[in-house]
Amino acid sequence: MADRPLTLMAVHAHPDDEATGTGGVLARYAAEGIRTVLVTCTDGGCGDGPGGAKPGDPGHDPAAVAAMRRRELEASCEVLKVSHLELLEYADSGMMGWAANDAPGSFWRTPVEEGAARLAELLRRYRPDVVVTYDENGFYGHPDHIQANRITMAALELTGMTPKVYWTTAPHSAMRRMGEVMREFGSDRGEPDPSEAAALPEIGLPDEEITTWVDTTAFGGRKFDALAAHASQGENIFFLKMGKERFTELMGVETFVRVQDATGAAVPENDLFAGLR
Ligand SMILES: [Zn+2]
Repeated sequence: MADRPLTLMAVHAHPDDEATGTGGVLARYAAEGIRTVLVTCTDGGCGDGPGGAKPGDPGHDPAAVAAMRRRELEASCEVLKVSHLELLEYADSGMMGWAANDAPGSFWRTPVEEGAARLAELLRRYRPDVVVTYDENGFYGHPDHIQANRITMAALELTGMTPKVYWTTAPHSAMRRMGEVMREFGSDRGEPDPSEAAALPEIGLPDEEITTWVDTTAFGGRKFDALAAHASQGENIFFLKMGKERFTELMGVETFVRVQDATGAAVPENDLFAGLR
């Protein structure tokens, strides 16, 4: 273990997921001297274009959107002090049911073995002690998030050398708080979508099923700034409207469910590296 630094690898689907999902742990562990590797699987080409243009709208050019989002991602990585950024550059598959799901080169259409083989190469290169990705539902059902889970779990099985593996999640208590804040800050976006509101309690896990609670409140400002680097994306503007303090209150503790462990560290734990240092 002494021949290389302790290493955290986060596998995400799109540019900006690193900030919302794991910005706190990336910033905190970098500050503790841990090497951090971010793998971003897609180019984010189905994101918002200039002026909030959606895919298919006039003025939405997926290649230009991808180029803009790459610059945003690099800026976010600077804020979070990510040691290594690795891009798999698959085409963004868009939301479930979009035609982009089946477009040539889309991440969703990529065979799991192919993506897993590429990720396995990165696992062998960096030998992370901890790998973090989404749960099997991609947290909220986005096809690229689901695919990121699939290739990560397959790559981990191919290489078989990562001591601790986590899925990002949110406790139901936090989802309820988030729902309240969304209604408060989203009021100028019209009526809340009832199907969205009804789905909220289904996302995440009951609090008692969370294995790992990492306090990253000291890095809430960093996480906010990383998200601010992705200001071209409409859904991030909602968070930015909250301001740093409120955002940190809401998003300062990052939660995970531990799905593989070779250390025997007791749960619940408050450190992804418990048992490793
Ligand atoms: Zn995403």
